Amino acid sequence: MATDHPLSRRGLFQAAGAAGLGSLWSAAASPAGGAGDGNSVGEAAAASSAGPTIAEPARQIPVAADCDVCVVGGSCTGVFAAVAAARLGAKVVLIESNGFFGGVATASLVNLWHSTEDMENQQQIIAGLSTEVFERLDRRNSLTVVKGKRTHYALNTEELKIELDALITEANVRPMLHAMFVATIVEDGRIAAAVIEDKSGRRAIRARQFIDATGDADVVARTGMPIYQRDTVQPPTMCVILRGLEAIRRKHPDFNIHRAIFDAKYPQALQPGFSWGRAVPGGEDEYMLAGTRVFNANCAEADELTEATIEGRRQVRAICDLLREHFMDGQGTPLLTLPAKIGIREGRHAQCLHTLTQDELLDGRRFPDAIANGTYPVDIHNASGGGITFRYLEKTPFYQIPYSSLVPRGAHNILVAGRSIDADEGAFGAVRVMINCNQMGQAAGVAAWLALDSGKSVADIDTHRLRETLKQQGAAIL
Ligand SMILES: Cc1cc2nc3c(=O)[nH]c(=O)nc-3n(C[C@H](O)[C@H](O)[C@H](O)COP(=O)(O)OP(=O)(O)OC[C@H]3O[C@@H](n4cnc5c(N)ncnc54)[C@H](O)[C@@H]3O)c2cc1C
Repeated sequence: MATDHPLSRRGLFQAAGAAGLGSLWSAAASPAGGAGDGNSVGEAAAASSAGPTIAEPARQIPVAADCDVCVVGGSCTGVFAAVAAARLGAKVVLIESNGFFGGVATASLVNLWHSTEDMENQQQIIAGLSTEVFERLDRRNSLTVVKGKRTHYALNTEELKIELDALITEANVRPMLHAMFVATIVEDGRIAAAVIEDKSGRRAIRARQFIDATGDADVVARTGMPIYQRDTVQPPTMCVILRGLEAIRRKHPDFNIHRAIFDAKYPQALQPGFSWGRAVPGGEDEYMLAGTRVFNANCAEADELTEATIEGRRQVRAICDLLREHFMDGQGTPLLTLPAKIGIREGRHAQCLHTLTQDELLDGRRFPDAIANGTYPVDIHNASGGGITFRYLEKTPFYQIPYSSLVPRGAHNILVAGRSIDADEGAFGAVRVMINCNQMGQAAGVAAWLALDSGKSVADIDTHRLRETLKQQGAAIL
């Protein structure tokens, strides 16, 4: 898709940085050397002049809220950030463009969280808000604990939506759903407000601290702070909930959905890719399939996101046609639910104080400012062709994620959490899963509160106190 777009990939991310008030920020925040991709905020301003422009008149906009912490992006990462800060007493606003919270888990139907134990299944290395959510879902028969060499958790993500509503309501977080973050306002080198567009128009949220949990570093990019994007990103996937696969298996004992959809003997077969899935907890013969793959799609760019979305649904239709024609006698449809959003694995990253590397992960490096632990292996969905590149943890029972990989360079009052943290390709392949992003969210919420409480910049907070406070909140801090 879009391989000959007039802007190169590098240009695209530079343009993103220029779309907001980048020039206000650039003097303070531009990194000395830039990262491997060679981006800088200065270049961003140049890229913005590509193509015709039109002047947007300046205007006064209402301030919809004035708070301590504004979290942008309401996946579990963002919800956990908001709840963690609010439980410490901060006044928190949470902005989300969907009509529900949960991000990829709910909007894109991805229903599996990975193990909370070390590689030897000897020690619990992940706790906090993730385990609270497990308990809440379990009370509603909406969690399946799949025991095996590595335990994992299948979630009913429709129930998850409602549990996340309850979590933020109980914590007194002010939710703003159906609200698209579009810009920041920078005053004296600090972000003073986030600007949203929602049904009521264009409005500002004033805050002392900001957390960018948009997955694509939208807030960092729109502020003109340093970001980067790899030349090849992991491909997005349009998931789907199919029904009746067990019924098919009863009639066709050799049926395997993951083989069938790539079997070239069927005219509807997909290009070689990768497929996995999980039964929907609480569902009857309902199966979440992640089997499509859209190559060369940079979903941090609006037009490519649109194209990828339509291509993803086309592939789902091909799967359904394949099943109908070859396994269902042309009767009925296996299609039960399409996701609200294509599942995006990777977009922009913020350049942070520390770039987490694959070697650090696989060597099990311990960080004094560690805020999260994980075991999920390096898992890179190949950007072209089929398959996945896996690299397993062999030398260490778990790895750690340092706080410094959440602190954008030049930041005074903004943190990133989730898949937009600073990590090389290999490290990113591992840390991107939700059980890891969830911990980053909780840590970012606590760190934002500490910055407020101590009057320090996010880069200067006491990370010993951060770890202690996380521990008091039930997180596993090792
Ligand atoms: C197909 C697929 C399968 C995967 N499989 C697994 C798996 O089995 N297990 C696992 O743990 N992980 C899996 N992952 C990875 C994991 O789901 C993601 O990496 C993780 O959810 C990222 O979390 P996040 O909070 O950073 O971003 P997201 O989940 O993308 O959340 C970002 C949130 O911010 C909101 N947002 C974005 N921009 C704006 C804006 N401008 N204004 C307002 N709101 C905004 C979005 O609507 C969204 O709710 C998979 C990913 C994909 C795509």
